[in-house]
Amino acid sequence: MKEMKRKLRELSLKDLSDEVLHRLAVSGGVGLLTVALLSFSLVGGMNTGYGSIQDLGKSARVALADLDIASIFSMNPDGDAEKQLKVASAAESEETDPVQSVFGEFYDSSNVDPNAVSIITINGQRIVYMRTAEEAQQVLEGIIKRYTEGNSQITSANFAETVEIITADDYVTAEMAAENKKVTETYLCQVEEAINYIMNGTSQPKTYTVQSGDTMWDIAKKNGISPYQLAEMNPGFNADRLSIGDVLYLYEVQPFLNVTTVEVATETETIPFTTQYTETSELYKGQSRVTSYGSYGSKEKQVQYVKQNGVIVSSSVLSETVLSEPVTQYAEVGTTTMPIKTGSGSLISPVGSTTLSSAAGAYGASRGSRRHAGVDLKANSGDPIYASDAGTVVFAGYSNSYGNIVKISHGNGVETRYAHCASLLVSYGDNVEKGQQIATVGKTGNATGYLCHFEVLVNGSTVNPLNYI
Ligand SMILES: [Zn+2]
Repeated sequence: MKEMKRKLRELSLKDLSDEVLHRLAVSGGVGLLTVALLSFSLVGGMNTGYGSIQDLGKSARVALADLDIASIFSMNPDGDAEKQLKVASAAESEETDPVQSVFGEFYDSSNVDPNAVSIITINGQRIVYMRTAEEAQQVLEGIIKRYTEGNSQITSANFAETVEIITADDYVTAEMAAENKKVTETYLCQVEEAINYIMNGTSQPKTYTVQSGDTMWDIAKKNGISPYQLAEMNPGFNADRLSIGDVLYLYEVQPFLNVTTVEVATETETIPFTTQYTETSELYKGQSRVTSYGSYGSKEKQVQYVKQNGVIVSSSVLSETVLSEPVTQYAEVGTTTMPIKTGSGSLISPVGSTTLSSAAGAYGASRGSRRHAGVDLKANSGDPIYASDAGTVVFAGYSNSYGNIVKISHGNGVETRYAHCASLLVSYGDNVEKGQQIATVGKTGNATGYLCHFEVLVNGSTVNPLNYI
């Protein structure tokens, strides 16, 4: 090949005859050499790497040894080679034989119709070569689709860059015909591949799939970047909603194309109902009952989203249609003060003994920033818990760290509480006798084991229960 290049350089190309061209081509061997014998009409200058073709003048016939068209274009990143070159196809060539036969072989040995090949250019730069114009169109549509939601209507899509699909014309035909022989595999893209390439600036984006227990911090650290960088690389990604299987980019996505899409999505939203209360003396204060249940309404909204590369930059509600109105709920609230059954004034242990479950179970023991408000009485799972005195149940239910708890008011400002119960045998408003079973021992809520957490309050303040039982 080197020899041929030299020969070409030495020769005054103006003087090349058809015979010489033919000889060069044949001696090189069609299969081994990337010799393209083309008939050029030069419109402008082009650097072939072997000196300027411009020197040749118009309509010179040129032999290009060891040079395929693709590499010519890559040598001309500023491109517009199509404007500089006017390549007559072999079919149009009048003198023919040698050129046409060689050209014909290139053409015939290709499985891609070079007439169909389309190139997507962005700001004049050739980015991807597609097998057909339809595929090139699919690439651009695919990019827009990737940035929009499945159920929304795209009303407009604009590329910030100048995008063109260069479809086959006579010069592309010859160019690609020559190119197919050598660069089909390298240059022609699949649709998905082209979409990824244009969107990410690379066809194999480096990503990270979120694993169980990951935080943005961990992922950034694992990959040698700062959490801030990671966030920058994944605009629109909500770090608070990191979930297993999410895919994060590990580099700054620098798409060839920046797309602004406007889409309209139809969204359904619930409309909350309101509750109207009326007072009733049939219920105690703090009690309420629903007399007529309400229900949610729903509305359909047309929301317009403007997105840049898939990230919402603004949204506006275009229209709202109420599909069903919410139904108001009606409820009654009690006004009657609950009468409290007065106890004897002396308390008994709810589990029969005053043994603590542990030293930490003492009244006033440290509970982090607080003090233990009661005592943890030693008991076994399922043991009965008895009312310390006669009284009225003012609460029976679940309450955060207390778990299942019963609160009994005994009148005269005395209240007892029994927490971490397994089951509750009384309910709000019940009057209980001293020693009546009210619950069973469990470890619901924040309990270290089976025990009865017992509190005594006098006028709203806790006291040491062991002083009372
Ligand atoms: Zn306790």
